[in-house]
Amino acid sequence: MNTNNAFYEELVREDRAHLWHPYSAMGGDQSVYPVVSARGVRLTLADGRQLIDGMSSWWCAIHGYNHPVLNAAIESQLGEMAHVMFGGLTHPAAVGLASRLVALTPEPLQSVFFCDSGSVSVEVAMKMALQYWQARGRPDRQQFLTVRGGYHGDTFGAMSVCDPVTGMHTLYSGLLSRQLFAASPGCRFGDPCSDRDIEPLARLLQENSPRIAALIMEPVVQGAGGMHFYSADYLKRVRTLCDEHGVLLILDEIATGFGRSGKLFACEHAAIAPDIMCVGKALTGGYLSLAATLTTAAVSDTISRGEPGVLMHGPTFMANPLACAVALASVGLLLDSPWQARVAAIEQGLREGLEPCRTLSGVADVRVLGAIGVVELSAAVDMKAVTGQFIDAGVWVRPFGKLVYLMPPYIIDRQDLDTLTAAVTAIITGTQRGFSRGSRGKQ
Ligand SMILES: *Cc1c(COP(=O)(O)O)cnc(C)c1O
Repeated sequence: MNTNNAFYEELVREDRAHLWHPYSAMGGDQSVYPVVSARGVRLTLADGRQLIDGMSSWWCAIHGYNHPVLNAAIESQLGEMAHVMFGGLTHPAAVGLASRLVALTPEPLQSVFFCDSGSVSVEVAMKMALQYWQARGRPDRQQFLTVRGGYHGDTFGAMSVCDPVTGMHTLYSGLLSRQLFAASPGCRFGDPCSDRDIEPLARLLQENSPRIAALIMEPVVQGAGGMHFYSADYLKRVRTLCDEHGVLLILDEIATGFGRSGKLFACEHAAIAPDIMCVGKALTGGYLSLAATLTTAAVSDTISRGEPGVLMHGPTFMANPLACAVALASVGLLLDSPWQARVAAIEQGLREGLEPCRTLSGVADVRVLGAIGVVELSAAVDMKAVTGQFIDAGVWVRPFGKLVYLMPPYIIDRQDLDTLTAAVTAIITGTQRGFSRGSRGKQ
């Protein structure tokens, strides 16, 4: 870090000494950069440098940072109450947000369970499915079916349906529930889905449906499991198969929800509805951690009429008023904005800006859908070096493994977007040159 500021140098030392960061080692050699503020699409580092944000803080900050409308929503709620338990009590922010979510999501989804994070909403979805079958006298339906390449969160239930390889199942093999995995969808977004594409999943359903509680997957976009965009036709056939076999369908819209893929929810690409849906991430516009699990009246009524008559979950911070208030404001802000046009313009800018990467050596694929742009390399990047190069180029981009990807806030303008895509292109060009010379330079 190029800062002369003793305070921030000490901050980074303390951070190294005591803090874990996501998926990292304590005291590892990865740099962390202190941020002092963020506004619009720009993050300001402690040394004064400003970076254009290409990540939306992992799918969340769709309106950019420090938005006056979202700030005002939190301040106004704060003046009333920051929190109150949800057992036996309710409040306008929770009820308002639930009604809004029911109105926006596909028709059959009617019942809303609020929880604190995406992973927990997946746990709740899985419990809903198990309790549904329990209530119907089918406690033997306990397994979940999914596809490889998925990501659903980091708690144990969610981990059990993440891709077994990238999710490192071997680390917890004795503890994880054994689920059923079909090959990841081979048909790409925009292409039809053939019988051969769906066959592995269809066969698993055929052979195991009496034991399966639900099929869980991310609709159209597989996020942290590999950033793949698969055929909407595949998803349509998944819905049909689930109906034929009487298996519930859980769609994890935590990454895709609220417009990211070009539709408000990615299941709209296939014009289907799940029985259970998880939302999170962009729900609060990136302000606070909040997620929700929605289900149909058929599922919630069955659970409520069966034994033990209640859904066995209830987080301490369930339906936190500050989080619900900012989420309600964020959803309103999104719907009042020309978000379709913005996402379409970002899609166009990402296509034009990232397309030149396709011919670079070391690039395996370039793909864009909605406000998501991905350059897949043939080898993993050197994270530390590449992060430094992105920062020198004035952008915040955080690759993982072989994937360099962009998913900027929807409010980004074309000039800033061009800066992001130009940085990606330049750095991949430089990196590959460095590799082919057999050295990464000593500058
Ligand atoms: C991020 C993510 C989760 C987990 O959400 P957390 O809030 O990090 O627990 C689950 N599913 C998908 C598809 C995600 O992208």
